[in-house]
Amino acid sequence: MSKRFYIETVGCQMNVLDSELIASGLIGVGYEPAESRRRADVVLFNTCSVRQHAEDKIYSALGRLKHAKEHDPTKIIGVVGCMAQKDGPLVFRRAPHVDLVVGPSHLGQLARLIDEVATGGGPLIAVSPDRGAATHAEARESFAQFNPTRHVETRASAHQAMVRAMFGCDNYCSYCVVPAVRGPEQSRPIDEIEKEVRLLARQALDRHVALEVTLLGQTVNSYRYRDGERTYRLADVLYRLNDIEGLARLKFVTNHPRHMTDDLIRAVADLEKVSPYFHVPAQSGSDRMLKRMRRGYTAGQYREMLERIWAAVPGAAVTSDFIVGFCGETEAEFDETVELVRQARFKNSFIFKYSPRPGTYAAEHYDDDVPEREKRRRNNKLLAVQNAISEEENQPLVGHTVEVLVEGPSKSSAKRHAAGDVTQLVGRTTCDRIVVFDGSVDLVGQVVPVEIESAGAFTLFGKSLFHREGAKSAKKPQNADRK
Ligand code: SAM
Ligand code: SF4
Repeated sequence: MSKRFYIETVGCQMNVLDSELIASGLIGVGYEPAESRRRADVVLFNTCSVRQHAEDKIYSALGRLKHAKEHDPTKIIGVVGCMAQKDGPLVFRRAPHVDLVVGPSHLGQLARLIDEVATGGGPLIAVSPDRGAATHAEARESFAQFNPTRHVETRASAHQAMVRAMFGCDNYCSYCVVPAVRGPEQSRPIDEIEKEVRLLARQALDRHVALEVTLLGQTVNSYRYRDGERTYRLADVLYRLNDIEGLARLKFVTNHPRHMTDDLIRAVADLEKVSPYFHVPAQSGSDRMLKRMRRGYTAGQYREMLERIWAAVPGAAVTSDFIVGFCGETEAEFDETVELVRQARFKNSFIFKYSPRPGTYAAEHYDDDVPEREKRRRNNKLLAVQNAISEEENQPLVGHTVEVLVEGPSKSSAKRHAAGDVTQLVGRTTCDRIVVFDGSVDLVGQVVPVEIESAGAFTLFGKSLFHREGAKSAKKPQNADRK
């Protein structure tokens, strides 16, 4: 009987993609997915190190598996991804029942390492050497790329796929652990990206669903791939992919403000399938904090970038990340962040309390001197300001028709109608707004028109116009989501 694996994923979209690729790799050598940890022969934790909280979650989940391992010593427990690279042997000290510690650079060897453990060769550790101690060339070599053949069964849905455009990061923002755990920036060859998107589009066409692809990179807009005389940038990738049959929508995350070039913005404006949606983290509205964070731009330059986006792509949705309570952040400096959020009117923002990461420049050179309670207060305040803006920005969509790629039944889809064939569905607009409406599950994976009836900060509620041919709002569009 085939061995069964279960993967628990924490962290960003990169990790979600890695888990899918790990699953593809394991299925490729004969494993089967298990529906729970309990039923699995191999339990893998794909981990995150960006904040302390993510690591705490993993260590407590590992603690809970101790008894399962005592009960069945043949169960293999592996810790993979960023925390594996960061903590290395410390994982065994904190959780001695772990069999395997594998960094993001060694995921291609995972199946072989699991076999070695199963035949008594464990515990095993496979991580890259400390980046600081290696030359750039050594680091590039040790952070090998992992791109196994994609299996549609390992994705959450056939109609959405993430595709890696680049690996790693060379920015070394002073608070961030990513360059150490994910290795140097490396862009994938444009031909390889195109080939993968064509394969995913073929799979979607075979299943009669629309495909949305999200290109991923820590700073995806710094994509740079040299082929002979020619250097390809992200805009070139978008132009190359836009005409692929079966591809309905194309997105790209995450962007760095410094690399938001006019040619990229122009590509978004020009290309029909590319979503008018930009996730460009600002992190702070204070120039002193941005300098301490080593972000390489000022708040004024960030605002100027926003003007360029809005001039070229009217109605574009822009989203951001912010860190509050960074080392030495005063109340006045925090207020500058609040002011930026008020002016920029982001579609939404992800707000994080600063969490010192061992080995980063900030952790070693600055005091983490904003008390936890104050970080929480700033977090809540900024979130409240952002949520009020999100709600206000969603109101003008009421009465308009938006195009929704249907993702599946909503969480509360228990709300079934008498006919039994109608359920509450959830999907997204091209600008990444969440829409909930009633419809048949046959609509999952299709792009359908939905008339918006009400709107909150996080969700739009509407009714499907799928059955009404050519249904269109009579109102003039002023927002990329409005039709
Ligand atoms: N590469 C992206 C960029 O430059 O914006 C971000 C990648 S990071 C994994 C995602 C977000 O986590 C960051 O934008 C930042 O807001 C947050 N983050 C990173 N390090 C952090 C830390 N030490 N404490 C709190 N938040 C942090
Ligand atoms: Fe971290 Fe900065 Fe790289 Fe983003 S750009 S991953 S925040 S170092």
